Amino acid sequence: MERINDRLVNWASILDAKTREQAETTARLPFVHPHVALMPDAHLGKGATVGSVIPTREAIIPAAVGVDIGCGMIAVRTDARGDRLPPGRRALREAIERAVPLSAGHYNRKVVGTARPRIDELTRLAAEADFDPAGYARNWELQLGSLGSGNHFIEVCLDEEDAVWLFLHSGSRGVGNRIAQRHIRTAQERIRRDGIRVEDPDLAHLDEGTEEFDAYIRELRWAQRFALLNREEMMDRVFRQFGDWLGGPVHEVERINCHHNFTERETHFGETVWVSRKGAIRARAGEPGLIPGSMGTASYVVEGRGDAMSLESSPHGAGREYSRTAARRTFTLDQLRAAMEGIEFRDTPAFIDEIPAAYKSIDRVMADAEPLVAVRHRLRQIVNVKG
Ligand code: 5GP
Ligand code: MN
Ligand code: MN
Repeated sequence: MERINDRLVNWASILDAKTREQAETTARLPFVHPHVALMPDAHLGKGATVGSVIPTREAIIPAAVGVDIGCGMIAVRTDARGDRLPPGRRALREAIERAVPLSAGHYNRKVVGTARPRIDELTRLAAEADFDPAGYARNWELQLGSLGSGNHFIEVCLDEEDAVWLFLHSGSRGVGNRIAQRHIRTAQERIRRDGIRVEDPDLAHLDEGTEEFDAYIRELRWAQRFALLNREEMMDRVFRQFGDWLGGPVHEVERINCHHNFTERETHFGETVWVSRKGAIRARAGEPGLIPGSMGTASYVVEGRGDAMSLESSPHGAGREYSRTAARRTFTLDQLRAAMEGIEFRDTPAFIDEIPAAYKSIDRVMADAEPLVAVRHRLRQIVNVKG
């Protein structure tokens, strides 16, 4: 751990100057309390740094959660074993792709029936919070159970004991994105109206006690719940496809579902603050968590150590080393194929910017994260489905 100043603490052994500068800007905000914690996977983000933990007192920065509110990971450990899997992994990949659409649409209408209780819960929660999600996205119900694009993914993995895990990354989809954008805009309008000067308009905040703040918290909580249930829904579908493909009985042994873009009210150093984690997971002592690596490297199932200075947090992935554009310029489809040797994936140049080499080394990130989490399992993927 490195104390950059009394408002900024860092765990990243690789930290470029721009990311450091961005985190310093955030840490200077007067309502940050007690300090911003930079995780080992920290890299430049819009407004706030990806891989940062931002505790705030009596205020909140909507952009500090990121635009994918509630983005995170879900994993299921099954009692199936790698050495007993039937051949034909391509059929499994295609079955998963059919069961989980990338976006809401006519196709998801067919499978959305299984999501009914989850949609009902979200409808009820929205009514209680007195807002109408259809005002943000008319088709929000159909978005539940859809993966999204970019770096959202589904994987079948094996751990060090050859147990099969199902692993999935997604968030609150279009509806959550609309909610985030709307409140980021409101915060920007407010500080402009009140004549508050900020170093970066993407760090605009809302003050506790205002109507805008309360509305944001209500909708943020709903979007976080949406994201959690969205992952549950997709995982149930993936589990069913896996069972059908296996053709024998399979059971769920353990399920972990955690956000890595979220805000919660928490107590640290004796004071209750709003903790926003943007590309960071919560790592209270004994709390399970998931840290994916990349489409062709290891991922980790971890357990928090409850480190106080990190505000009980840990990294959420490897973090990008190359921007998408830089990765496209640098790497080739042949290099991607070589990196994906032995893994069933959709072979397309569209994923060149997702090549493992475009990310920091997950092993380095995990070494930096040693004071924050203990490793429970190390996973290697055998099937990868990208959004
Ligand atoms: P983010 O949520 O910030 O977009 O990224 C989550 C993390 O997931 C990335 O930092 C990267 O380490 C990891 N990741 C990206 N794509 C894949 C993938 O296809 N499989 C796995 N296992 N991890 C990935
Ligand atoms: Mn994410
Ligand atoms: Mn996301």
